[in-house]
Amino acid sequence: MEVDSRDVEQRAYTGLLPEWSEVESLVEAAHRRYEADASGVVADYIPVLAQANPDWFAVSVVETNGEAHCAGDADVEFSIQSISKAFVYALVCEAYGHDVVADRIGVNNTGLPFNSVIAIELNDGHPMNPMVNAGAIATTALIPGLTPDEQWEHIASGLSAFAGRPLQVDETVYRSEAETNHRNRAIARLLESYGRIALDPLEVVDVYTRQCSLRVTAKDLAVMGATLADGGVNPVTGERVVSAGVCRDTLAILAANGAYERSGEWLFEIGLPGKSGVAGGLITVAPGKAGIGTFSPPLDVAGNSVRGQRATAYLSRVLGLNIFASHAHTLAARGRGQA
Ligand code: GLN
Repeated sequence: MEVDSRDVEQRAYTGLLPEWSEVESLVEAAHRRYEADASGVVADYIPVLAQANPDWFAVSVVETNGEAHCAGDADVEFSIQSISKAFVYALVCEAYGHDVVADRIGVNNTGLPFNSVIAIELNDGHPMNPMVNAGAIATTALIPGLTPDEQWEHIASGLSAFAGRPLQVDETVYRSEAETNHRNRAIARLLESYGRIALDPLEVVDVYTRQCSLRVTAKDLAVMGATLADGGVNPVTGERVVSAGVCRDTLAILAANGAYERSGEWLFEIGLPGKSGVAGGLITVAPGKAGIGTFSPPLDVAGNSVRGQRATAYLSRVLGLNIFASHAHTLAARGRGQA
């Protein structure tokens, strides 16, 4: 992963965010630091995504007390794409519970790209991982509802509750993907051949394509992340969206799988659960503290926003967010001092 570790001291993990004005200036610093970084390539396999402005860049942090910090193009809307997988997964966990979803969909990284067909074949048709297309399509198939319209209603209202405002489909993005998503249709048919999808696979792909086309801003992503960080209660609206247990399960999945085949590097550099989308969105969750939303269309080879990863890595270090950091060093030093 091409994160930048330029001379930034890691803040000791405290369990608390710094005070509001410091978070505000660090969010602005994260934006300033990577604004001129033009590395990466804008996705074009969904034709309309190629029209995105590669200079767009937004950073947003929403704290679990509902306070928001934004820098850059935080009001520009873009399609949520694969980030929807995290929230649809949470809704399915809420409906079915920990064991059923772990068994039906799986929790392990395939180590292969997000649209891999081989991964399905290698695992006897088990989708393995809800954060790649096969597992996400199988997850969408489990959404409660007797018809595709009812399932879509459940997804649209659920993701809107996470964001705290009614999210709308970007019809241009939806049509562009619906006309070209032959690979996702093939994945769904393959899952059907293994008995992994009980519904009409093409109808499931259509609902999946719609969920990927929902329009969000970087700030919406930060609110959605803050809801997962806040045990399932949206800290802006006060609405409980999912249970605390579902948040815990979803965050574990994001830690293991959020950056596709680069998830290990992501966790090593950033130390937080996260999820990227091919339109350039990136969501990261600091449990108990905050959600981070970034947006910048140029991507690395695995499909993760380059500026987004770098800005998030910076914020993880300077805000002391890495969940694997501890006070061990300080305590050891104090012990030695007393001896
Ligand atoms: N809708 C996209 C797809 O299915 C989502 C992929 C992504 O964001 N990586 O290909």
